[in-house]
Amino acid sequence: MSESMKPQLRSEISALPTYKAGKKVAPVNGLDAYKLSSNENAHAPLPSVLSAIVDAAAEINRYPDPFASTLTAALADKFDVPIEQIATGTGSVGVCQQIVQAVADAGDEVMYAWRSFEAYPIIATIAGAVNVQIPLTASGQHDLPAMLVAITPRTRVIFICTPNNPTGGIVTQPEIDSFLAKVPKDILVVIDEAYVEFNRDALAIDGMATMKAHTNVGVLRTFSKAYGLAGLRVGYFIGPEHIAEAVRKTAVPFGVSGIAQAAAVSSLQHEAELFEIVEKMIAERNWFEAELRKIGFDLPASQANFVWLPLGDRTDEFTSRSADIAVSIRPFSGEGVRISIGERAALERIIELAAEFVS
Ligand SMILES: *Cc1c(COP(=O)(O)O)cnc(C)c1O
Repeated sequence: MSESMKPQLRSEISALPTYKAGKKVAPVNGLDAYKLSSNENAHAPLPSVLSAIVDAAAEINRYPDPFASTLTAALADKFDVPIEQIATGTGSVGVCQQIVQAVADAGDEVMYAWRSFEAYPIIATIAGAVNVQIPLTASGQHDLPAMLVAITPRTRVIFICTPNNPTGGIVTQPEIDSFLAKVPKDILVVIDEAYVEFNRDALAIDGMATMKAHTNVGVLRTFSKAYGLAGLRVGYFIGPEHIAEAVRKTAVPFGVSGIAQAAAVSSLQHEAELFEIVEKMIAERNWFEAELRKIGFDLPASQANFVWLPLGDRTDEFTSRSADIAVSIRPFSGEGVRISIGERAALERIIELAAEFVS
């Protein structure tokens, strides 16, 4: 037998790019290192949430509640929806994957704007689905009319990421209303609201209200960003009952740990305190954007916990220079960088660096 023989992969899997998680940088020349590359919440967990986590840790010899019943009930209460319409998962990326696996057969189409969340193409490809990427407009917005035109009989699900990762812009309510009026009712439209808590644009879509007004709309939410639980992997879907049921069927059994469930429930109980931190992060974002505009950048307004800096062909140079000052940011080669709103000291370093990149 030939030495080179080895177990074979599906061709689309071997072609799949490896997910580029935000890198941790090393301290440089005595400078503390900061990670502004993964849109994490830089604030430490609340003591109350930590204590719920510690309590839950005492039960890790048992499998967790597979239905995340307490969390689901708390979400049902918060959003005034029946529990049957809710499904949880290992982060909203996990839920996103559960959705695609539930609705797309091999060769079916999964549509989303591009550039948008990098997990969408990976998830669609793993499912054997066809990626249909509709370019953002020049100002970084979803091009909903172009998405409508691209719908085919094989379109199964359309992801609308608002605020959009990595550009930070929102889809407005009038835009989504006229879009949904024309999307066939047998296509699932998923509004990915991973950053919704950071939105302060009154024109932005109200995902929950929109979901309630339609039979083919669902909303994706996460505890990873505003709630600061990225390390625990918990997110959820709220949408049509039969879709939520299918999302539960495609889940990894017992995927959401008891610790994650307890932390999420405790976070909902301490939401007021957490949202004070969110307000501070929004104030930091506004300050950071204003500083970048002052030095001459023309920025799209961000409604998320990150800012998009369109650097074009100077993106790689900026990325290596930011590594030199011990700050990791998320580059999209040839397009720009996404900078998470984190520690003030790191943002100040970035502003200083950015001043050299004003065209
Ligand atoms: C971060 C993010 C998510 C959620 O990530 P999880 O940690 O898996 O919950 C979902 N959608 C977008 C657009 C994101 O940026």
